[in-house]
Amino acid sequence: MTQDAYITRKAKLYIQNNKIPFHDFFRNCIFGFIETEKNRGFFVHLQLGQNKEPFFFECKCRDAHKGILCEHVLALHFTARNWPHKQEWRHVSFENYALLKMFKDAPHKVLKQEFTSESNPKLDISAIQSHARFASYLFNHESPQAQRDNKAFLRATFLERSEDERVMIHSGVPSKKCFFEQSMLYRVAKMAFFLEQKDALTIDLDWGQDHHIDFRLLCEGRPFFSWTMGVDVFLKGTQTNLPFWSKYLDINHVPTAIPTVYSIAFSPQGDLMIRPGFGQHSFMGLEEVEQTGHYLYCREFGYFQTQIGLSEFELTYSSVPETIIPRKKIPAFLKKHQNVIQNLERTFIDKSLFGSILLTEVNRLDITLNDYQNRAFQAEITITIKDQRIHFADLKQLLSDQLNTRYWNIKNRFFDAKTPDGHYLKALLVNVENSFMPVQTLFQSIFHFQSRLFVQTNTLTDASYQRMKSMQMENYPDLEPASLNLRPYQSSGYRWLWFLRCYGLGGLLCDQMGLGKTHQGMALLTAVKQEKGSLRALVVAPRSVLFHWQEKLQAFCPNLSVSLFYGQGRSIQVSFKSDIVLTSYGTLRSDAEAIQMKHFDILLMDEIQNAKNAKTATFASLRGLHADCRVGLTGTPIENRVSELKSLFDLTIPGYLGDSATFRELYELPITKFKSREALNQLKQLVAPFILRRSKDEVLLDLPEKIEDLKPFSLTSIEREWYTTLKKEGKKGIFGEERISALHVFQLINKLKRLCCHPALHFGSDDYAKYPCQKWDLFISILKEALDNKVKVVIFTQYLGMIDLFKKYLEHHQIGYACITGSTRNRQQEQNRFQTDPSCRVFIGTIGAAGVGIDLTAATLLIHYDRWWNPAREEQATDRIHRIGQKQSVQIVKFMALDTIEERIDTLINRKKSLLKDVVGFDPEDAVKHLTTEELLEILT
Ligand SMILES: [Zn+2]
Repeated sequence: MTQDAYITRKAKLYIQNNKIPFHDFFRNCIFGFIETEKNRGFFVHLQLGQNKEPFFFECKCRDAHKGILCEHVLALHFTARNWPHKQEWRHVSFENYALLKMFKDAPHKVLKQEFTSESNPKLDISAIQSHARFASYLFNHESPQAQRDNKAFLRATFLERSEDERVMIHSGVPSKKCFFEQSMLYRVAKMAFFLEQKDALTIDLDWGQDHHIDFRLLCEGRPFFSWTMGVDVFLKGTQTNLPFWSKYLDINHVPTAIPTVYSIAFSPQGDLMIRPGFGQHSFMGLEEVEQTGHYLYCREFGYFQTQIGLSEFELTYSSVPETIIPRKKIPAFLKKHQNVIQNLERTFIDKSLFGSILLTEVNRLDITLNDYQNRAFQAEITITIKDQRIHFADLKQLLSDQLNTRYWNIKNRFFDAKTPDGHYLKALLVNVENSFMPVQTLFQSIFHFQSRLFVQTNTLTDASYQRMKSMQMENYPDLEPASLNLRPYQSSGYRWLWFLRCYGLGGLLCDQMGLGKTHQGMALLTAVKQEKGSLRALVVAPRSVLFHWQEKLQAFCPNLSVSLFYGQGRSIQVSFKSDIVLTSYGTLRSDAEAIQMKHFDILLMDEIQNAKNAKTATFASLRGLHADCRVGLTGTPIENRVSELKSLFDLTIPGYLGDSATFRELYELPITKFKSREALNQLKQLVAPFILRRSKDEVLLDLPEKIEDLKPFSLTSIEREWYTTLKKEGKKGIFGEERISALHVFQLINKLKRLCCHPALHFGSDDYAKYPCQKWDLFISILKEALDNKVKVVIFTQYLGMIDLFKKYLEHHQIGYACITGSTRNRQQEQNRFQTDPSCRVFIGTIGAAGVGIDLTAATLLIHYDRWWNPAREEQATDRIHRIGQKQSVQIVKFMALDTIEERIDTLINRKKSLLKDVVGFDPEDAVKHLTTEELLEILT
């Protein structure tokens, strides 16, 4: 870097860092204070010739003494160059420039003013009525930091004045130039130029009429300039430098913008009027505000600007003094702008006004029950919204053509139907016909409106209503003809079902496996026959338990005729003459149309979770059936998906949980997405009366003990080797892909599981003795011991290949067995053989086919050869031997190969199970469905 460049750089740093806090000029001499430390430093001078480059400078630094243009002088030079209109200073002296600046763009109006200075008492000068440009120049300058230094000034005058001039001043006859330089005009001109030197300048503001301001510039107390300008021009100018102006601004000046607020009100004709305006406590329309330039004026705020948001609503309605929305278009208007308006409302809009237009709540619901017949109350309903009481019939009339719109126009107010209350009002309007209110609608109202509901009864209805509320009947049909021998909890289940049936309701009987849901269902069927003398009932069950039902009905309800509507050659004419028709879900699907023509007293849907998906044909065919009372039976009813609960309710109490969109908005989204406890509790409260679930722990204190026995073991070394290789290769394949595929992870997990079960299974062999297998050896030793002790054994697996290995072993050792897999035709026969034939020692089955709907209580040992993903399914399978009828304590054996996939799955499923229970409170039906890819990968680690 050359020395010049180095000095230039340093000089620029002085400018950048504001190290020349003060500078001034006299004629062609600039001088400035170089600040070296805080408030300390020295002056430098730079003398310019007209139309010349700098020719003389003074600085105390060493460079300057050597005649080098130092960084201090250079910095001063840059400062001068930065003065406004830098083009001009080269051609005129600074003082001329200052004057020029003031007078140049000459004034339209020139005022003559008497002006005096100390040296010359009488001086006529012209002053200008200035204009906006000068004002803005004036406004935009900053206030000074440093005081003028007299010595520096004298030095400058010395440098610039000739010897002759000095003599003349001394003798009292100054030159014309000197005389002028002493005048006030000159001084003001300079001050105006810098404004830093404004001490001599004072400003006098007078807030005049018509949004104009009288601005007077006083020089040492005497008026110098005066001009009148628009308030907006003045305010705009001062905004950039408010601190400077603040002492002059003894006015209510509001530099910040004021938000527009809106008045929304009804006209006498019922139209909606929107008026933009202002105000914090009271509304002020635009017409009450005066507009001047960029500013608005009103008494409350003084001068201000408006603040308008960018929403369509604000852009449309903020500038028009009044907009009328015709009555008919109000709902559409609200729908479009409601969100914006409600956001405005929080801060700006007149709340009470707006709140009275759009209503979201029912304040009170009065129901007078006049009569009860045919499972419905004849009721008189009055709805109170805000302060308005509306009779139900009037409301129905009023809403007849707008029930499906979002905003209901109710006497010039609008009720938002997309609110919880809106949804329930709608249900009420749809379900109550000719003033007949179905019991389930009354139930809905009770649970939804709670303390806002007021029910009145009379002698005709009081008993029915009380029974309904307590869910207890006074009398229950005698079940004598059947030989059900209900246990106490089964009796109460039956009474609950009977109550539901009497009031035209439905429900979900969800007792834990093995508690005899079938028995309670049979009790209900018997009761209806007893009361009516006839019975038309349909029982829909999975194919695998159809015969189980048939057998049970024949055994326990000999007075009821049963026919099976299933298989080839089935006939509606023949089958549907019986009291009870049994059919499978599959058959129902194919013959739905015909069966839906029938009307049933009772519809029993066994294992109703089969229809949990509302998009399936199974669901649709069940939904289309006609029955007075619809009951679902299941051991695991309430799944981890709230929507599935909804499906089950749609099948048992249609309409009770509202339409799907409503349900999703009120419950499903808040619960699943936002984990809303409130919504969850509301839903629980709503469904609780119609779900009956008892666990074994609660009711079966006398059921024999169940001992769970987890058998951890280690793979043999050769198995370990295969396992490690398989895992390594598999993982390479998975992680080699661009995106990790859950399916491939699953495949690998399954392969590893199979290897843990038996290497023969993995290698596709049927020779169980060919490969070493730790699990198999352990299994055989347990099996042998049990058989030696005359214990019957149930073995579950999920792999057909394992079934083959078991069979081969049992046949080889001549052990009698029964077996049920998905392809077994006669399940009942297999079950019976195992239950009754002493030589049939072992039961083998796949968990999918044999895990539900059969009794295997002859066994007291159950072996889960491999682990099922789903703990609930495993439990169900366990319940095959641990159920009513079991007299002895049972042992459940599960295996777990240590440090393998089996151990990981065990941990993960347990964790998942408790997590789901914590969050949702529902039993996880199929936890594996909710495993993420990450969790699957975790299993593989
Ligand atoms: Zn210097």
